[in-house]
Amino acid sequence: MEEKITQFLELQKIDIEIADFEKTFENLPKEIQELEFKIQSEIKKIDNLKEKINTYEQDMKNHNSEIEAIDNKISDQEEKLFSISSTREFEALQKETGDLKRLKIEKEDLQIKTMESLDEAKKSLSEMEEVFKNDIEPLKTQINSLEAELKECNEKREVLKISRKSKTKELDKEFLTQYESLLEDKPPVIVPAIGETCGECFLTIPPQTYIKVLQKNEIVNCPHCRKILIPQETTSNE
Ligand SMILES: [Zn+2]
Repeated sequence: MEEKITQFLELQKIDIEIADFEKTFENLPKEIQELEFKIQSEIKKIDNLKEKINTYEQDMKNHNSEIEAIDNKISDQEEKLFSISSTREFEALQKETGDLKRLKIEKEDLQIKTMESLDEAKKSLSEMEEVFKNDIEPLKTQINSLEAELKECNEKREVLKISRKSKTKELDKEFLTQYESLLEDKPPVIVPAIGETCGECFLTIPPQTYIKVLQKNEIVNCPHCRKILIPQETTSNE
């Protein structure tokens, strides 16, 4: 029995290593996904800002052409003023010109505001692009190294699985069946009894059970968590 236990402890070592890799497989993809999300959301923000800048630039063009149109009208009317003889007509035209000049001032105010927004947006964009270059761009390198790590873990896990498979061929079938059914609940399967206490669930085991553990003649399960119990010193000579 003692030899069997030693063999199974070796198997358990492999299973613990495999379980550690499984944890990596749970964590790494999540980490990679989070980094990718961060990069994508920064790209989106920059794109949105660029779109806004385009809108402001289009607005600037519109303001310019509107002001130009008003200017043309004003100079047309001012020319007309010379050829008008009737006072009433003259006054009406003069009023119209005055209205146009006020409209021009309004448009120029709008133009200034748009210009200010445009400058601000451009400033924000260059700041964001700077942050992107310094803080976000390096995340791509981080993703690459995480992906490399993931690949390496996968390869190591496959190697472990192969060596596990060849190892199990030499093992006691009955013990293996029990071991594997307990393994579904994650390693370790074989745990030391610390005195009359289970080293896994830390509940007290009956004295007669503990005696059986010390005798090492049969497989002894913890009556509470079902793990296979062995004397404490057996695990320490790994
Ligand atoms: Zn237990």
